[in-house]
Amino acid sequence: MDTCHFEGCETQPNEHLFIDGDPYCSPHYNIVLEDRLKESFQNWDGDSDQDFENFRKYLARLSDEQRWTTKGDSFLSQYRIKKRAYDFEKTDEGCEFKIERHLNTWEGTGKQRDVIEHWRANIEDKVLVLLDKTNSS
Ligand SMILES: [Zn+2]
Repeated sequence: MDTCHFEGCETQPNEHLFIDGDPYCSPHYNIVLEDRLKESFQNWDGDSDQDFENFRKYLARLSDEQRWTTKGDSFLSQYRIKKRAYDFEKTDEGCEFKIERHLNTWEGTGKQRDVIEHWRANIEDKVLVLLDKTNSS
């Protein structure tokens, strides 16, 4: 039987917790993911390169799995951050990004409103803040 892949840990891994195919126990799973988030954040120089892709991947995964505090009248999911967010900008504590949403689509034609949400992520405090919403044209 495999043990947790964290160096020196003899614990049996959680059968649902994998990082890049390697199994981990619950505490080490979170520690390793947080380390990778911070590492990719430090390596990310603001360009859309592999470091950015890693940062976005770990941000999406951690904020969703750890249920980071969300401030504002909306919500984010792992899918939204990973697939729909754009215009990422690096900040001192994390990043800011935008997501376009289509509201009221169930009310029929002519009622749809597209809004652009502007979010800020703080990876130290584990908080996602909705800064503003603007109508998209
Ligand atoms: Zn472990």
